[in-house]
Amino acid sequence: MNNIIYLDHHSTTPLDRKVLDKMIPFFSENFGNPSSIDHYLGNKAQQAVESCRIDIVKNIGAKYSKEIIFTSGATEANNLALIGLFNKYSKEKNHIISTVIEHKSILDTLKYLETLGAEVTLLPVDKTGLIDLKELEDSIKDNTLLISIMYANNEIGTIQPINAIGEISRRKKIYFHCDAAQAMGYENINVYENNIDLLSISAHKFYGPKGVGCLFLKSFNPTVRLNPIVHGGGQERGFRSGTLNVPGIVGLSEALNLVKNEQRTEKDRLEKMRNEIQNILLNECSDIKLNGHPQRKLPNNMSITIPGIESKALIHNLNKKMAFSTGSACSTTKAEPSHVLKAIGLTDDECHQTIRIGLGRSNVDSIEISDKLIKAIKELKC
Ligand code: PMP
Repeated sequence: MNNIIYLDHHSTTPLDRKVLDKMIPFFSENFGNPSSIDHYLGNKAQQAVESCRIDIVKNIGAKYSKEIIFTSGATEANNLALIGLFNKYSKEKNHIISTVIEHKSILDTLKYLETLGAEVTLLPVDKTGLIDLKELEDSIKDNTLLISIMYANNEIGTIQPINAIGEISRRKKIYFHCDAAQAMGYENINVYENNIDLLSISAHKFYGPKGVGCLFLKSFNPTVRLNPIVHGGGQERGFRSGTLNVPGIVGLSEALNLVKNEQRTEKDRLEKMRNEIQNILLNECSDIKLNGHPQRKLPNNMSITIPGIESKALIHNLNKKMAFSTGSACSTTKAEPSHVLKAIGLTDDECHQTIRIGLGRSNVDSIEISDKLIKAIKELKC
């Protein structure tokens, strides 16, 4: 690998070598289609997929293998959750509650559902990125079908009060979908204990391969049903047709096993390193502002606004030395200021002066990271 310090782990993570080793046989000698169970190779692939399902069930606190639906990632899982649920139940209930800081795969899907007759309420957030639980309760109506709220935000790292949201949705008999793309591997997610009825995850956010993820769909108390959005051969109990991505699924499951094993120690290590970097930066440049919640925050997230410095200029200055981003990778093709930063009250100028750093496994030296950042900031300020 080159010598770039990679600081963009919210965008994606490198594939773990151990995960790759597990995947390789399923590209080559064990290439069978898990639906072709008439012969040995198909059976072998099917057994591998079913064993992955069991591992994922254990790691997220689900109960049954059938609750896991493999998808191409969190975007598809989010689309399936929202569109699938709406199409199934919209004749009875058509109101969906979400938040203004969701990922675009939720916000744009909700916009699409509005064209099909959905009534959507987007809850605001406070300056730290948290929703107000009272406001959530007050927005519930007789026709509310679903609450869809992300576990942790991909730009500012704020972690929502998931247990309390789960309790409210259970009490009010409303489905609760949670986009946990950023939280998996850092937070103790237990879908039954947290009263989460649908959960989206994506392997490439926790050192697994790109292009694979899954949707958890609760099968008991309540039993969640969906209309499929992809039609065809009826794989995944008809919820998601298409030949399964066996190497990807093996990678997803192995990456999750590994990340869960080291969760506690890695979380502490990243949090310590993040706090060190923040403290050094604040000492040197006192006008820097930290975004997100001071405590309820992903351990690896750092969103900082540096007055007078364009984030693009900073990225350019550190090009080939460090990789981090201005906001979420998915929206950086657009010139508009980030909807998340706007929602927590930043001005357009402040949005353009904000960088997002996402620490990860390969980051070990907080001094080196902060020194490089400070040097670049000082060069640009002169
Ligand atoms: N939700 C969140 C919160 C994300 O951060 C992302 C990835 N940026 C997604 C959904 C989309 O995930 P995927 O890349 O697997 O489609």
